[in-house]
Amino acid sequence: MEIGFIGIGRMGSQMARHILETGYDLTVNDLRKEAAVSLLEKGAKWVDTPRDMAETCDVVFSSLPGPEEVQKVVYGVDGLIEGWKAGDIYADMSTNSHDLVVQIAGDAVKKGVSFLDSPVTGGTKGAEEGNLVFIVGGEKASLVKIEDILHTMGKKIYHVGDTGSGTVAKLVNNVISITSNAIMAEAFVLGVKAGVDPQMLYEVAINGTANNWDLEKYPDSVFIGDFEPGFRLSLASKDVGLALQLGRKLGVPLPVASAVDQSYLAAKAAGFGDKQLYSIFEYLENLVGVRVRTTRK
Ligand code: NAD
Repeated sequence: MEIGFIGIGRMGSQMARHILETGYDLTVNDLRKEAAVSLLEKGAKWVDTPRDMAETCDVVFSSLPGPEEVQKVVYGVDGLIEGWKAGDIYADMSTNSHDLVVQIAGDAVKKGVSFLDSPVTGGTKGAEEGNLVFIVGGEKASLVKIEDILHTMGKKIYHVGDTGSGTVAKLVNNVISITSNAIMAEAFVLGVKAGVDPQMLYEVAINGTANNWDLEKYPDSVFIGDFEPGFRLSLASKDVGLALQLGRKLGVPLPVASAVDQSYLAAKAAGFGDKQLYSIFEYLENLVGVRVRTTRK
């Protein structure tokens, strides 16, 4: 089985490495060939275009920033669609738009290709450790065919349902966690501005009802002023936007997410887009002139 991987970024480089190190034949592509150097040194093959990849591979994965890039990879010049052969499987692991994954699945099926929307959760640490969670929509039979490959990159696989359902579940997860980070940033900045020690605010929150997955990460990020990505703020902003788009389409109001969307847009405009999601703290800190830092790592 020939496997292809498009998008050798923070997530993709680690995921592709796990596939390769397990012993599968792997072909890779990215806009930046330099991103693939260490994979090529380990035996991966390079192709110049998604079309070349579709022509030579049976299973193709992608991990791209978002809908704009996935659109180009599938439908652009020398896109995947031009090289698809009946029987191929394409699993997109990007956090993508619901409309686009449904469109791709429809076009794929006309060529006898099975498309799985397969976004992931677990962050760059999960990708590095091969500990990701896959959230998959599409044909169960196709998922079964690629399960062994997914297990090289992750421990848990959820088959959520039909095409698009993986994307819906991922957007629900992300709108919750990204919104939580925005309100935690506001609340911590408020507490520090009011004169309370951030370590004490943390102790109260972590042992109280405010505890959550991201809060536990703050001692090694926010509290020491380390905002290196990780998960870029611009990707988080994209995900909230995708959830709002889905809400608009379905007539579901999301007033809290809409407000949070504006916060992330403002932080992006202020230059935080390529920093870590948690740099929403730094953006707010700058506005009011405090720092949420502790002396303990
Ligand atoms: P990234 O920006 O680090 O990587 C994206 C890669 O895609 C880059 O190497 C870029 O050069 C490449 N690329 C862009 N356009 C391309 C094109 N047209 N053809 C080929 N390659 C192209 O992003 P990332 O952090 O690795 O995230 C990838 C996806 O995974 C995103 O959809 C993100 O929302 C999702 N995600 C990220 C995390 C995280 O913690 N970083 C966690 C879960 C999900």
